[in-house]
Amino acid sequence: MTKRLRALREARRVAVCAILGVVAMAAGGAGGSCGMSHPNGENDGPEASLRRRMVREQIVARGVEDPRVLDAMERVPRHLFVPEDLRARAYDDGPLPIGGGQTISQPYIVAFMSEALRTRPGDRVLEIGTGSGYQAAVLATLVAQVYSIEIRPDLARQAADRLQKLGYGNVMVRTGDGHLGWPEQAPFDAIIVTAAPTELPQRLVEQLRPGGRMVIPIGLEEGDQRLVRITRTETGVERDTLLPVRFVPMTGGPGRTD
Ligand code: SAH
Repeated sequence: MTKRLRALREARRVAVCAILGVVAMAAGGAGGSCGMSHPNGENDGPEASLRRRMVREQIVARGVEDPRVLDAMERVPRHLFVPEDLRARAYDDGPLPIGGGQTISQPYIVAFMSEALRTRPGDRVLEIGTGSGYQAAVLATLVAQVYSIEIRPDLARQAADRLQKLGYGNVMVRTGDGHLGWPEQAPFDAIIVTAAPTELPQRLVEQLRPGGRMVIPIGLEEGDQRLVRITRTETGVERDTLLPVRFVPMTGGPGRTD
C-alpha cells in the first residue's frame, strides 16, 4: 500500500471512529473503542499485524509464554515510542536509539523481563529508567499502577507526555536517581530496573514487600552483565541469574540526586 493510500485510510478510520465515539457517548457509553488514544493501543492497521508477527517470531519463538505478557506486547503501539525517523524499524528484533545515547530495549527483552517479574493484575510496580516509556506502558497493561523514575529530565518529560497522550493513566513518571527508589510509594510488589548498576542497589531491595520480585541487569557496561531476579523473603533475598544481557549503565549513585 502506498503511503498516501495508507494516510487516506487512516484519516477515514479516524473519522469513522470519531462518529462512533459521538454515537457511543450519546448512548451513555464511554466512547468508541477505536482511535490512537486508547490505552490498549490499536487493534487493527498495519502496525497491529507487525506486532502479531513480532510476538510470534521474536518472543514466543524464544520461549516467553505468559499469555498476559504476550497480549500486552500485542497491544502496546511500540512505533509510537521510538523517534519518528525510526518508526519503520519499531518492530525489528533489536534495541533502537531514543536520543542522548539511550536505547529502547529489544522487544524480546521487554517481554522476558515482564514475564520474569511474575506480576498480578492488582500489583504496584516501580520501574527505574523510564527512557521512552515503552516498558512502562507494557507494565501498565499488566498491573494496576506503575511508578517510573528517569534520571534525565528531558526523557522523563517526553515519556510522561507520551504516556498521557496515549491514555496510560496508571503510570506516574518522575525525574530522579533510581538508586533512591520512590520511598513515599513503597513497598512495591515488583521492581524492574532497565539500566545496569554494577551492584544491587540496597535502597531498592528495601522497597520491595516480602515476596516481592526485582528484575535487574547487574554488571559492567563492557559486557558481562547478567539479568538477575531478586525475591525478597522474610529474612533476606533469593537470587536467580536469568540471562546474559547488555544494558546502558545506571548513572547517578548513592547520595546523589542528579
Ligand atoms: N525502559 C526504557 C529503556 C531504558 S534505557 C524503555 O522502555 O524505553 C535506560 C534508561 O535509564 C535511560 O533513559 C537512562 O537515562 C536511565 N537511567 C540511567 N541511570 C538512571 C538512574 N540512576 N536513575 C533513573 N534512570 C536512569
